Amino acid sequence: MAKQNILLLLLSFFIIVSITNALTTNHSDLLCLGIDGSLTATAAAAAVKSVSTDFGGMTSIQPMAVLHPSSATDVARIVKAAYESADGFTVSARGHGHSINGQAMTEDGVVVDMAAPAAAGMTPAPEVSEEFMFVDVWGGQMWIDVLMFCVDGYGLAPKSWTDYLYLTVGGTLSNGGISGQAFSFGPQISNVLELDVVTGKGELLTCSEEINSELFHAVLGGLGQFGIITRARISLQPAPQRVRWIRVLYSDFSVFTHDQEYLISLESNYKKFDYVEGFVIVDQTVINNWRSSFFSSSNSFDIISIKAKANVGVLYCLELTKNYNDNDIDIVDQEVDELMKKLNFIPDTIFTMELDYIDFLDRVHKSELKLRSMGLWDVPHPWLNIFVPKSKIGDFDNGVFKGILGNNSNGPILIYPMNKDKWDKRTSMVLPNEDVFYLVAFLRSAFNNGDETQSLEFLSNQNNQILKFCDDAGIEHKQYFPHYVTQEEWKRHFGEKWTQFIQRKVEFDPRSILATGQRIFKPDFTKCLASSLMDSHKDHSYFTI
Ligand code: FAD
Repeated sequence: MAKQNILLLLLSFFIIVSITNALTTNHSDLLCLGIDGSLTATAAAAAVKSVSTDFGGMTSIQPMAVLHPSSATDVARIVKAAYESADGFTVSARGHGHSINGQAMTEDGVVVDMAAPAAAGMTPAPEVSEEFMFVDVWGGQMWIDVLMFCVDGYGLAPKSWTDYLYLTVGGTLSNGGISGQAFSFGPQISNVLELDVVTGKGELLTCSEEINSELFHAVLGGLGQFGIITRARISLQPAPQRVRWIRVLYSDFSVFTHDQEYLISLESNYKKFDYVEGFVIVDQTVINNWRSSFFSSSNSFDIISIKAKANVGVLYCLELTKNYNDNDIDIVDQEVDELMKKLNFIPDTIFTMELDYIDFLDRVHKSELKLRSMGLWDVPHPWLNIFVPKSKIGDFDNGVFKGILGNNSNGPILIYPMNKDKWDKRTSMVLPNEDVFYLVAFLRSAFNNGDETQSLEFLSNQNNQILKFCDDAGIEHKQYFPHYVTQEEWKRHFGEKWTQFIQRKVEFDPRSILATGQRIFKPDFTKCLASSLMDSHKDHSYFTI
């Protein structure tokens, strides 16, 4: 038996070394890395193919190699090699590849597959501190696993979520991470206490408000530009047992947004909802799409007759939840009644569902499984997410929901407001210049079924029309999950934060080797040392496609 184990060990050593050797025929820096995980460089290998696409399904870029790390040290080794290599190569962390436009891909470089470590159990397991109410998690951990670990073992849970939990901690923290709790707790990036980050120089640093604070703030919402998050310390609270999930309908947009804004202005913990979102109903498909496991034959409504009665073409649905424990049911009834009395939805359009806390948070996954089984999940997703300032949301409604969309949504359209004071100005995030702003998310699926209005081309053109409408109407929006292709567009996106963004890039990733799939900075392999990089960033190192 012992002999067999030694043979196995030797064999795996041989495989790893031979793979590494193959990789380093072009990049000798990788020869002696001593990676404990695994590197795959064969173009035809499944591991390489699986990181060459993403959820958007519109981009395909094959990397030179994929690293399945076993630790933060592995991540640091590969980035350091890239940074110090004479020829240079790029390194992109990949979470679960749920980006839309190839943001987690890289050509001529290595993708670090954070969500798929070298072997099960190799990357660090989550650790909860009940005393200080936080959990330490690996950067490639999926939020669903964080939730299950904290609730099952400790009755605790993170405070701020995304609608879908099969996303990684590092992936959402690089973007923001928002859902219906953000009005109250801020985005996920406002609920992080500490990070371990591998910078673009290959240094593994711990950072927080107190230690290496510039790096900490740079990385949060930093689109992967300043480092790879290998550990995050997430703030926790007691997990409730149950959720009351409520939906009500509106025909008047200004009444709908007035009620949403009222609800997010409430301060007390006990007299407010725990989750405030909403969505736009321009056609019947919204009832059957992936976000609506809520409506069933016993809990449904007829959009056409409600629209006809109200004499409108578009309806709006406010979506709320109240968390509770089984013992508090009477108090919940009372609190919900009091809150609902203040709202002005269409009478008799209130729909309610009671479910376990975990089932509520994991609601989108159920629809994913349904869509997968019908072959409707792996299709192109030309999604567009934008933040719109409160003062212009009425103009947006008139121009887009009641105008450009023309009775055709091709997927859910989310709309909900957030309070800007719950976002930390020091992070890399950029937001509209008002205290309250809305997320508007067009979560579309494209089909090649002969219906032109469902085609990728049609929907992509419509996205451009929406963005152009905002520009023409003077709506100072910001894209969430921004996707730009020219230097001028990125500069405009970051606005007054652009200079700081560049300074942080020069400090933490001077050769611009990280997350090149975002297409913000072009790697400069002609320079080995950082000394003249500031100039190169100024002059010519952006993508200008
Ligand atoms: P990836 O897409 O793999 O990576 C995203 C970016 O982050 C890339 O640039 C990558 O290089 C970088 N990155 C990844 N891991 C790390 C790391 N460890 N360190 C540094 N950089 C890293 N978002 C919300 O905010 N709210 C939602 O409600 C929401 N719902 C969604 C529902 C669905 C069905 C889908 C597909 C996406 C949803 N998203 C939502 C978007 C999601 O937050 C983004 O797709 C995000 O990119 C995270 O996905 P990921 O973990 O797969 O990261």
